[in-house]
Amino acid sequence: MKKIAILGSTGSIGTQALEIAREQKDIEVVALAAGTNVDLLEQQVREFCPKLAVLWGEKEASCLRARVRDLPTRVAAGMEGLLEAATVPEAEIIVTAVVGMIGIRPTIAAIEAGKDIALANKETLVTAGHIIMPLAKEKGVHILPVDSEHSAIFQSLHGENGNPIHKILLTASGGPFRGKKREELADVQVEDALKHPNWSMGRKITVDSATMVNKGLEVMEAKWLFGVSLEQIQVLVHPQSVIHSMVEYADGAVIAQLGLPDMRLPIQYALYYPQRRSLSGERLDFYKLSGLTFEEPDLEAFLGLRLAFAAMRRGGNLPTVYNAANEKAVALFLGKKIRFLEIPEIIGSCMEQCPYIKDPGIEEILETEAGVYAYIESRW
Ligand code: NDP
Repeated sequence: MKKIAILGSTGSIGTQALEIAREQKDIEVVALAAGTNVDLLEQQVREFCPKLAVLWGEKEASCLRARVRDLPTRVAAGMEGLLEAATVPEAEIIVTAVVGMIGIRPTIAAIEAGKDIALANKETLVTAGHIIMPLAKEKGVHILPVDSEHSAIFQSLHGENGNPIHKILLTASGGPFRGKKREELADVQVEDALKHPNWSMGRKITVDSATMVNKGLEVMEAKWLFGVSLEQIQVLVHPQSVIHSMVEYADGAVIAQLGLPDMRLPIQYALYYPQRRSLSGERLDFYKLSGLTFEEPDLEAFLGLRLAFAAMRRGGNLPTVYNAANEKAVALFLGKKIRFLEIPEIIGSCMEQCPYIKDPGIEEILETEAGVYAYIESRW
């Protein structure tokens, strides 16, 4: 039995990870953690009977505790609970699928406890990649990418016996507003931004795809995961989302991973790496593909992507500023408090205004996040 813990089990990635556990039958779920969704976590606890279940809020945790008192599952709350779920002794692999920078401390705790990480929570690497990657190396743990693009790159590196990457071709669907000019984006509504053409995901990442900030975060994630320079990462808009990303080698050979847009594949690959297991569902039918097309991203319309390169180039706490500003701005947009184009404006303003720290530790990263939030609250 493979023993796993899932942080963010009630979300899009978390529920799909549980689908795999349900289908494969040789996965034991030892801990589950979520934010506030008592009903779904209760269902999951009843089905998978983990040793530990965690909810962020104390009130929600008490409610769950009362509801599952007929079961042996212990219920915990808050950051303490998340840290416990990340380090639960029985688990070999931790699926980090919470959304946002809340994932940093549990991910570090899991690595320190020697757990392999199936990493979906990209915000963690974006902000603390300089701490997490060396720590993982020191502890000898695997960071297995769950993001479909990074999984595709990871798969394209297989069998290369250390041949260096010449270039990463990071594909992007372009989101619901591909092809639109900046002025056409002025009046887009929350409902429009939530209509992703190819992928069904959580609300925050769906908005990030519409602004292309998601691709910016993925560029940063790729830089840390694969140890390449920014100049070696080329973003390629590929509207069909069939090629999930590619690696070009020194001789010009390009190796790609293709498939239907289905997050269960990269999740399952991370859980069983390096083994490939059968997976239910539709397969790519090349007779039905009408064509694969590629475009250069429009950095004027999608300023968020341009800002990501600037943040990563300068480094230090700027990727944290970028990420924290985006998290807050997306929450404001989803709450209909700001307009769509204000998301990159807020990110840009925070990058100009927030004090720069060259080599931030975890406390400074968290202070930067708090500083960015306070700045945004004082202005928007
Ligand atoms: P969702 O919004 O669907 O789910 C987020 C999960 O995190 C939920 O289980 C939520 O619980 C939980 N959560 C939120 N806040 C807390 C908290 N304070 N403590 C504990 N748990 C919390 O997000 P996604 O599944 O879409 O994304 C998760 C991560 O994976 C993100 O970093 C995203 O960028 C990344 N990712 C997602 C992809 C996708 O296809 N969805 C693809 C690639 C990467 P609750 O339900 O109770 O609020």
